[in-house]
Amino acid sequence: MTITKSIAKVRSIIKKQKLKNKIIGFVPTMGALHQGHLSLIKKARKDAGFLVVSIFVNPLQFGPKEDYRIYPRNFKKDRALLEKERVDLIFYPYPKNMYTAGFSTYVEETSLSKSLCGKSRPGHFRGVATVVTKLFNIVQPDIAYFGRKDYQQAQVIKRLTQDLNIPAQIRILPIIRQKSGLALSSRNAYLSQKEEKKALVLYQSLRLARNLVKQGQRKPHFIKTKIAKLINSRKNLKIDYIELVDPKTLKPVKKIDKKTLLALAIFVGKIRLIDNTII
Ligand code: AMP
Repeated sequence: MTITKSIAKVRSIIKKQKLKNKIIGFVPTMGALHQGHLSLIKKARKDAGFLVVSIFVNPLQFGPKEDYRIYPRNFKKDRALLEKERVDLIFYPYPKNMYTAGFSTYVEETSLSKSLCGKSRPGHFRGVATVVTKLFNIVQPDIAYFGRKDYQQAQVIKRLTQDLNIPAQIRILPIIRQKSGLALSSRNAYLSQKEEKKALVLYQSLRLARNLVKQGQRKPHFIKTKIAKLINSRKNLKIDYIELVDPKTLKPVKKIDKKTLLALAIFVGKIRLIDNTII
C-alpha cells in the first residue's frame, strides 16, 4: 500500500496503472473510518484492479460555524484499516496543496443542491462538488463509490459527472447502521452515551413514517407533523428539517403516490445528524 500527500505522485502511479489496463476504483472519504466507509471499500476492492482511497477533511465544505477544526481525525487507525482491506493507494493531501494561494475556481451544481442540507448549510455542496471534481481530476477513477447515507451528496455528484462529462461511473451503496438502527457516521464519535440513545429518534422517525404510509397515509404534511411531534417530545433535540421529496429532483412532493425520499436532519445537543430512507 502506497501512502502519499503528493498530487504529482498520484498522477504518475495512476498513469502506470492505466497503461496496465487496470480498472481504477476510488472511495473519497474524510477519514475517521467506520464500517460505513469500509462497506464502500470492500465493494470497490471486488470491482477494481487498483483501489484508491482519499482521506481529506475538506475545509471548503464546512461553514464558518461548523466543526472543521474538531472533525475527528485518526490517520494511524485509518491506515491500519485500509491496509487490512488491501487498498493500493491512500491519497492524504494537505489542504494547502489542494487549495493553493489564489485559488478561485469553484464547481456549483445549481438545482439538486438547493434543497435539504443545501438550505441549512449554504456553500456546503459547492465545497463538495469542487473537491470531488478536483479529486476525480487527480485520481481519474473508472468507478467511484458513495454512500446513500449522504443521499443528496451522491445525487449532486452523479449530476455533476454527467453535466461535466467526467468519465467515472458513480456507484451508490446502502446505509450501514448499528444494530440499534443508528446510521454510522464519523460524527457519532462526538456523541455521549446519552446523546447516542437520543439520536435513535432518527431511525424511529423513519420507521414511524414507513408505518404510516403502510397504513395508507399519503399526506406529507401529516407525516412530517407526526415526526416533528415525536422529536419535539424529547429533550435536547432540535429539528433542522424533515422533508418528503422526489428521490430524483429532491423537490417536495404534494402526495405520496410513488417512491418518495424521507430526509431528516436534527441536532442532538450541538451535533447535527442526518438520515434518510426511500418510502
Ligand atoms: P465521509 O467520510 O463522511 O465524507 O464519508 C465518505 C463516504 O462514506 C461518503 O460517500 C458517505 O456517504 C459514505 N458513508 C458514510 N457513512 C456511511 C454509512 N453509514 N453507510 C454507508 N455509507 C456511508
